Amino acid sequence: MFFAILKKLPVFVVPAAILIATWFTVPYIAALTPARQELVVVAPYLVTALGMFLTLHFHRGRPFLALLVLILFYWVSRTFLGEQPDLTLNRYFLACTILIPANMALFTLMRERGIFSMAGRLRLVFIAIQTGGVLWLFNHHFYSVQPHLVRSFVKLHFFEKILIPQPALLLGAISFVCVAALAVLRQTPVDSGMLGALTAFFIASNCLKTPDIHVAYCTAAALIIILSVLQDSYNMAFRDDLTGIPSRRALNESLHGLGRRYTIAMLDVDHFKRFNDTYGHDVGDQVLKMVAQQMLDVGGGGRAYRYGGEEFTILFSGKRMSDALPHLEQVRLNIAGYRMALRADERPKKNRQGKSQRSGSSRRDEAAHVSVTVSIGMAESSDELATPAEVIKAADKALYKAKNKGRNQVCR
Ligand code: GH3
Ligand code: MG
Ligand code: MG
Repeated sequence: MFFAILKKLPVFVVPAAILIATWFTVPYIAALTPARQELVVVAPYLVTALGMFLTLHFHRGRPFLALLVLILFYWVSRTFLGEQPDLTLNRYFLACTILIPANMALFTLMRERGIFSMAGRLRLVFIAIQTGGVLWLFNHHFYSVQPHLVRSFVKLHFFEKILIPQPALLLGAISFVCVAALAVLRQTPVDSGMLGALTAFFIASNCLKTPDIHVAYCTAAALIIILSVLQDSYNMAFRDDLTGIPSRRALNESLHGLGRRYTIAMLDVDHFKRFNDTYGHDVGDQVLKMVAQQMLDVGGGGRAYRYGGEEFTILFSGKRMSDALPHLEQVRLNIAGYRMALRADERPKKNRQGKSQRSGSSRRDEAAHVSVTVSIGMAESSDELATPAEVIKAADKALYKAKNKGRNQVCR
């Protein structure tokens, strides 16, 4: 359980690190020369401009919209909020604290549809209508709406320290929980970036009276989004979409950096075609994910990649075959021993057909669980096999041998 949580951490590490680092940066802003402080004031605009350029380049609509509303908030706070002693009387402040968290939650919930697609343009129109509507409402009926927006439901000293009025705080909390839940469930850099940016927004909006904190967290919000887009693009290029493990492209990169000694293992799922035919492509996909997860746990410094289809590669840099063998055997045994539960609708219609697929599962729960085996071929670098391509070819040959000898084994 503990390790399962640890494994889930990495996507949150970057946003959390920026939020913390920002906190430690704030005291240095006051010590800057006036010229540099002027630069700090435009930092959110510069970082957002860079972010918008990136999101346009990568066609990422959700982070683009988040950058847009966050920079609107910064602009509004610089333009309309600076002098006002009582922010609860400021229509722009009230509008921002209500609308921005709700919009961030909405953007997180939305599917990625690009920026200039039909859906993307509709979303921009939606923001424009929203802004126009709120401005109209506040310009014509502000004094009848305002008391409702600043009502205090709970009288606690804690809330006196918080600038954001309670109704907006409640809506903000709901938005935050939604975004946090989505970020934990989806585990993608962009979703956790949204969570980090929303957190930065809450800090910034609550510290409007402390301009250094405000500007620092507005910059941090944009920075978090930029890094999440970069991390996401990196993942798309170097991670396999289905299994989440490094892709063939990442393998090719690693092959360039190898030393003189290394072992390469090629792994192939046994009778996978029949498995797909019996249980369907979705269960087949689940099996590939399971195999990939088991391979990630390989010991001996082995690194796992999806080579393509139902074939995987494990790279042991600096190792001989004799070093790698026990770890490959362990992976093979772990996969063969793994019993994957099937939902009722995934069980084969014809039980006899299903039975022929499974070796080693007991008769009683045969329909509820499946297991697969893998064959592995390995080869090491040597004078005859001088390039990674040659070693891979030799490992493929060894894999072929393992298949011919009856599968579910490691061959060299
Ligand atoms: P062998 O034991 O000799 O390896 O037999 P096999 O059936 O595993 O070998 P074969 O190469 O004929 O079949 C591979 C199958 O893998 C064919 C294809 O339908 C399936 N496959 C490839 N990629 C995917 C994928 O991403 N998802 C699923 N579900 N199936 C895939
Ligand atoms: Mg194959
Ligand atoms: Mg196969």
